[in-house]
Amino acid sequence: MSGILIIAEHRRGELRPVTLELVSAAQGARRGTGDSVAVALIAEAPECLAASVSVQGVDEIVSVKVSAREFDPDVLEAAVRALIEARKPSLVLVPHSIDAFGYAAAVAARGGYGFATDVFRFEYSQDQWIATRGGYGQKVNVEVDFPGKDVVLLAVRGSVFKPPEAAASPAQSTFTAPSVPSRVRGLEFFEPSSSDDVDMAAAEFILAIGRGIGEEANVQQFRELADALGATLGCSRPIADAGWLPKGRQIGQSGKTAAACKLYIAMGISGAIQHLAGMKHVSTIVAVNADAAASIFSIARYGIVGDIFEIAEALQEQIK
Ligand code: FAD
Repeated sequence: MSGILIIAEHRRGELRPVTLELVSAAQGARRGTGDSVAVALIAEAPECLAASVSVQGVDEIVSVKVSAREFDPDVLEAAVRALIEARKPSLVLVPHSIDAFGYAAAVAARGGYGFATDVFRFEYSQDQWIATRGGYGQKVNVEVDFPGKDVVLLAVRGSVFKPPEAAASPAQSTFTAPSVPSRVRGLEFFEPSSSDDVDMAAAEFILAIGRGIGEEANVQQFRELADALGATLGCSRPIADAGWLPKGRQIGQSGKTAAACKLYIAMGISGAIQHLAGMKHVSTIVAVNADAAASIFSIARYGIVGDIFEIAEALQEQIK
C-alpha cells in the first residue's frame, strides 16, 4: 500500500476550493513516506476539471468518467471503492463536507479501512498514520491511530490548509468505474439566495449574533448596534435556520466566508467549528460570551466574558 489518493470535490462543473487544500495537506504527509499524490476527478466530464487541479504537489490526475450530472453518493461510493481496490493507496483524503458525508463512511466501513472525520492534522509516524481531530466540542484534541489498517481514509476539515498557487503539469490517466444503479434523482439545482443584497464576503467589519440573543425580538437591538458601529450584521446558523436573519447573512461552513473581513465581533456565539470555518482567519476577532470556556475565545484576539445585552447597551452609550 502506498501513495496518497485525493478525491476531488466539485459542483456544477467547478472544482470546490477544498480540493486544493487537500493537495497542500498531502504535502506535509508525503515528506514522511515519499508517497506520490494522485487526485481523482470523478465526474460526468472530468476533463473539464483537470486544469483546476494542475497545481504543484499533484503527481497524477486520474479521470473517472461517470454518468451522474450532479453529486450522487452511490456513484461516488462505487467509484472510490473501485479506485482504492485497484490502486491500493495507503492514505485517501476527502473533504469533511456534506458531499463526503454521503459516501466516505460507507466506503471505509465496507472496505474495512481506518477512518476519521473532521481531521485537521495528520502525519506518518513510526510506520502508521496518526490523525488529529477535535473532541468534546473542540475542547480537546484527539489523536487517532488505525492499528492493523493498510488503508486509512481521512475526511479533512476545510479552511485549515492553504491551497497551493503554483501551476504544474501532472501526469494524466483514466480509470473506468463500475456502473451502479443510483437511488438519487436530481430534479433541480437550488442555490439558496439571500433575501437582501448584503454581500457578507465583501464586508470588512462584521458584527455577528448567535443563539445567545435568545429570541427574535432581540435581533433589532443588535441590528441597531451594527448600524451605529458601521458594521454588517451577520449570524450563526441557528439564527438563519430560525428565519430571524436571511440565510445570506450566515457565516460558516454552510454559509458565507467572511473573506474580506478585518474586524469580527461575535456576540453570543459559542464557536462551533462550522462557524469558525467562515471567520477564524479574520485578523481581529472580538468575542462576547457569558461562558468563559466557550470555544470562540480560543481564536479571539479580545474576549469579554459577560452578558451580550449589557455589552451592547454599553457600546450604544459610548457611540452616543
Ligand atoms: P450555541 O452553540 O447555542 O451558542 C450560544 C452561545 O451564546 C453559548 O456559547 C452561550 O454561552 C452564549 N450565550 C447565551 N446567552 C448569552 C448572553 N446573554 N450573553 C453572552 N453569551 C450568551 N453553524 C454556523 O454558525 N455556521 C455554519 O455555516 C454552520 N454550518 C454547519 C454545517 C453542518 C454540516 C453542521 C452539522 C452544523 C453547522 N453549523 C453551522 C452549526 C454549528 O455546529 C453550531 O450548532 C452553531 O454554530 C451554534 O450556533 P451558536 O454559537 O449561535 O449557538
